[in-house]
Amino acid sequence: MINNYQRIYNKLLDYYGPQHWWPADTPFEMMIGAILVQNTSWHNAEKALMNVEPYLDPERMEELRTDELAQLIRSSGFFNIKAKRIKAFLDWFKAYHYNIPTIKKLGKQTVRNELLTINGIGRETADVMLLYAFDKPVFVVDAYARRIFYRIGLNMPTSYDTFQKQVEDAVPSDLQVLNDYHALLVEHAKVHCKATPICEGCPLFEMCEQRLG
Ligand code: SF4
Repeated sequence: MINNYQRIYNKLLDYYGPQHWWPADTPFEMMIGAILVQNTSWHNAEKALMNVEPYLDPERMEELRTDELAQLIRSSGFFNIKAKRIKAFLDWFKAYHYNIPTIKKLGKQTVRNELLTINGIGRETADVMLLYAFDKPVFVVDAYARRIFYRIGLNMPTSYDTFQKQVEDAVPSDLQVLNDYHALLVEHAKVHCKATPICEGCPLFEMCEQRLG
């Protein structure tokens, strides 16, 4: 019998279609975007990305002083902290000569563990980088996934890694499926399952307990 996580994925995919994420021109831009979007909206992160666009190359960005970078990414909020995080990330990336194919050859857990040692890179940020820049099949646990699964009636673990494993054990370990799953949940949280949900016409309506408390 098809499990709930697979059903949710199937229904969202039928309704919204493939998402072709992450919205970035290059893997490097994707990773900088993943840091900029921490604790803010994509709209604010995108404005910062536009400002920093002439430096969206690791060697050019490395030449910027941290305070110069901070000014360019002001609109993303917490810009001083994020500039330091980007610099710390660049230090790690430089050890691989900024070469994404080299990193792709490493195992998923190796890359994840290394990303998690970088100051300011938490599990969610590490996993979006793994998924959308390094082609590693992982399920990204974010506030939208927590909100949607809870409302549907699924009692998910509080622990990030246990939540992630519960979903990963239930769906194929397939890059495209996991790429789309995260993107579809984000889309669903924006279109129907908003802070105040619009349940009418929701593709998950029939399977949802609508737990809003
Ligand atoms: S039915 Fe309502 S609460 Fe349930 S997933 Fe859809 S929008 Fe969210």
